[in-house]
Amino acid sequence: MQRISHWVNNKVVAGTSGNVGKVYNPATGEVQAEVDLASVAEVDAVVANAKEAFVTWRASNLSRRAEIMFRMRELIDANRKELANIVSLEHGKVPSDAMGEIARGLENIEFACGIPAMLKGGYSEQASGGVDVYSIRQPLGVVAGITPFNFPAMVPMWMFANAIMCGNTFILKPSEKDPSAAMFVADLLRQAGLPDGVFSVLHGDKVSVDRLLEHKDVQSISFVGSTPIAKYVYETGTKNGKRVQALGGAKNHMLVLPDADLDMAADAAVSAAYGSAGERCMAVSVVLAVDSIADALVDKLKSRIPNIKVGPGTDPVAEMGPLISREHRDKVASFVTNANAEGAKVVVDGTDKAKDAGFFLNPSLIDNVKPGMKCYDEEIFGPVLTVMRVKSYQEGLDTINANQFGNGTAIFTRDGGVARQFQFDVQVGMVGINVPIPVPVSYYSFGGWKASLFGDQHMYGPEGINFFTRGKVVTSRWPDPRTSSVNLGFPQNR
Ligand code: NAD
Repeated sequence: MQRISHWVNNKVVAGTSGNVGKVYNPATGEVQAEVDLASVAEVDAVVANAKEAFVTWRASNLSRRAEIMFRMRELIDANRKELANIVSLEHGKVPSDAMGEIARGLENIEFACGIPAMLKGGYSEQASGGVDVYSIRQPLGVVAGITPFNFPAMVPMWMFANAIMCGNTFILKPSEKDPSAAMFVADLLRQAGLPDGVFSVLHGDKVSVDRLLEHKDVQSISFVGSTPIAKYVYETGTKNGKRVQALGGAKNHMLVLPDADLDMAADAAVSAAYGSAGERCMAVSVVLAVDSIADALVDKLKSRIPNIKVGPGTDPVAEMGPLISREHRDKVASFVTNANAEGAKVVVDGTDKAKDAGFFLNPSLIDNVKPGMKCYDEEIFGPVLTVMRVKSYQEGLDTINANQFGNGTAIFTRDGGVARQFQFDVQVGMVGINVPIPVPVSYYSFGGWKASLFGDQHMYGPEGINFFTRGKVVTSRWPDPRTSSVNLGFPQNR
């Protein structure tokens, strides 16, 4: 049985806790590897090592840091397919989908290559007589990232690229369900020339998360996962004096107005609902259809579903793979199975597929959902699209704003004025106008509102740089310098 162990000082380090987790191949349902789960003592040792590495790393010059990240960019680019296959084998998403995850992760590496420009401070000459004032941003120290199963390559890249470029040392605690992508990325960082101790991978479960949350030498926690755990991580981390950004779950609504191009809206909803088997925090989960076009839209959604090819990532024609685990598949199926009894109408039932080996479901479509039904109130995180009928734009907007989550949303319309009003009024962090999955590009920042984010700073982009640094303002006075020396060499900083 393959054993997946920790990554410290640029090499694999065997676990000593004696605890292991099982890593499944979701397409077959078989256990394909075991992963070490760290003990408190192992967490402490990794934190101590990262703390020591911080002393030298924070003093490394910006050109040297950027040079490593540029090399990392080339290495990921050259290894896209291999990384996509690793993701597919443990997560289940088909390789073409995994390639998309790597492309979006790579954007964050590219953004971080520009670190010398982003760490520029401000300078006010002559704030007082002979006095200048300037601001600088400095790294925090040892920082940790705790990531979910659904983007095992991209979400770590959201975090570590900016964290280490800002001069921090980073400890990644990836999902124990698909831990191999983190190890592959770690080895690429080694090849790119990252010094020992700057990036570590610590596999684990609640034991290691809790230790990171309470450890006095961990300065910040970046978390992405489900809402209950995000809330717990935020509350525990901040109670222990840490800076925390904790992104949680979602229930993303797509409002379709009567003037929308219904074929385009149906294509978009089907792609955004069933891609990655619905295991995306930006997946469209609820279509809000205004009454006058609701029947037509449901017909169009229904007609597209039989064309979706469900199968393992090893099948080159498959578009949608299995879910992450047997338990999760059964939970997702239960939302569909119970929907009719709750008063909704199951239009397409994909739960038959659960009989296959592997953790598969076919796409399901549920019409007439309403608040108060489980399939509306809870995050499903599977290939289930629900439709809620609303009387008007206003009812659609009110429905979105009344929902506990505020991660992503979209409006489909040809009316620019209404779209602009929607953007103004909707209480959601990421908004698409005729764009179903509005994941911001890396030079903006990613984050939802309400129960989708605990903390003040969104992930990556400019807010990521802020999160991983703290400001310092210097007020300085110097006597007129009379000393100088001659040096004919071209000025350089390396
Ligand atoms: P999860 O919350 O179960 O796990 C996330 C991380 O927390 C993992 O590393 C896991 O080991 C750890 N963890 C789990 N239980 C814990 C506990 N009791 N105490 C401490 N740590 C614990 O999430 P998941 O199932 O891996 O991922 C799916 C969820 O993530 C969905 O809810 C999805 O919406 C959300 N998600 C959100 C975003 C976003 O940007 N908002 C992005 C991706 C996924």
